[in-house]
Amino acid sequence: MNAKQYKQKLLDQLYAPYIKCMQCPLGKLGRTHVVFGDGNPDAALMFIGEGPGQDEDAQGKPFVGRSGKLLNRLLETAGLERSDVFITNIVKCRPPNNRKPFPSESATCKSILLINQIKIIRPTVICTLGSAAIQGLIDDQNIKISQIRGKVLKYENISVIPTYHPAYILRNPKELTTLFDDIQHAFKLSQKTKR
Ligand code: SF4
Repeated sequence: MNAKQYKQKLLDQLYAPYIKCMQCPLGKLGRTHVVFGDGNPDAALMFIGEGPGQDEDAQGKPFVGRSGKLLNRLLETAGLERSDVFITNIVKCRPPNNRKPFPSESATCKSILLINQIKIIRPTVICTLGSAAIQGLIDDQNIKISQIRGKVLKYENISVIPTYHPAYILRNPKELTTLFDDIQHAFKLSQKTKR
């Protein structure tokens, strides 16, 4: 069994008890699927968004709607396949009406799933997409995405580059280059950093 297969097995074992998770209120608010994550379980670069939307909830995969298509296009332009990276969200169940997850929901979900996903995958770089993603990851609700995007922060020993959520770029296309630059920066840094 190679590293990729071994890590996938560990991820499957991690997910098994949470297929019908009710550990936070999002489990009871109309979710169809718990959307754990998708991609290379041995990825050097990991993306963390805010939460599943309608398409993601229906299909059980992260970033498959309009935001996901934009993310795929930017990954390809940066020289990456979607299957090269691992993509997940800070909460695994869809918040109603596409609202941002509440800090308590992010904290609960992170403690049972995200923290362990990061421990298994061991990426060298994490790129967070949207304010709720970076606020939840580093436990700081006062952080403003416009002020810290593109900077290199730390979570444990992993470099973290926060950037905008692709859904924000669909509403504000003038920031498209900024999102692309941050993704490219994260990719280049992941290539330079040793595990
Ligand atoms: S968001 Fe996370 S903690 Fe909340 S019910 Fe879904 S899987 Fe469980």
